[in-house]
Amino acid sequence: MALPLLAESSAHPLKIVVAGGHPGDPECGCAGTIARYTALGHNVVLLYLNRGEGYCGGASLSRCADIRTAEAGKACGILKARAAFAGQYDGRAIVDAPHYDDFARALAAENPDVVFTQWPIDVHRDHRAVSMLTLDAWLKTGKKFALYYYEVAEDTMMFSPGDYVDISSVESRRHAACYAHVSQQPDKWYPKQVEITRFRGVVGGFPQAEAFLRHPESKRALLP
Ligand SMILES: [Zn+2]
Repeated sequence: MALPLLAESSAHPLKIVVAGGHPGDPECGCAGTIARYTALGHNVVLLYLNRGEGYCGGASLSRCADIRTAEAGKACGILKARAAFAGQYDGRAIVDAPHYDDFARALAAENPDVVFTQWPIDVHRDHRAVSMLTLDAWLKTGKKFALYYYEVAEDTMMFSPGDYVDISSVESRRHAACYAHVSQQPDKWYPKQVEITRFRGVVGGFPQAEAFLRHPESKRALLP
């Protein structure tokens, strides 16, 4: 019987990238897993496709990038992770040859062992875009890093995960990281995500679990 691969057993710190369309997406889908990774001494980067230029509650659109970059910085501080930005514009994601190259370069610069990205079948075009850009970068490396998909509240569709991470011990930090995105009115989406992680927990055998789908051709990652 194969033993589970646990991040506790890694002899050296892993480099993990969690890619998302907007500030708040990696936190929504993976904050608990990120908190557990960093508590074990692994290095995690949240790579946002854009700075959320398209929406920041009641504030003027011209201020959104600054407001949401600051929110991302605060969330990453809570999770002991680092924020990085791939330079695209909220709501106007471009998936073409130059942007595939740009994103692959941004990812290669981090030299990741594991990458988590959004599931491609999703309500939001930026989420679909980051998923395609990540997949292309992964293929370009010859499938060098482990590739996993995550889900976000009401946006992800047709998701059937196979790996579960127990996040019950880090619920308060997960909550704080999501609520750092004040301009995104977390009361509108956080309860839905908790509903999801409770349900995933029932299947995974934990009080609350974040659930992931490994690309079937990807190596297995060390999960926390
Ligand atoms: Zn988003």
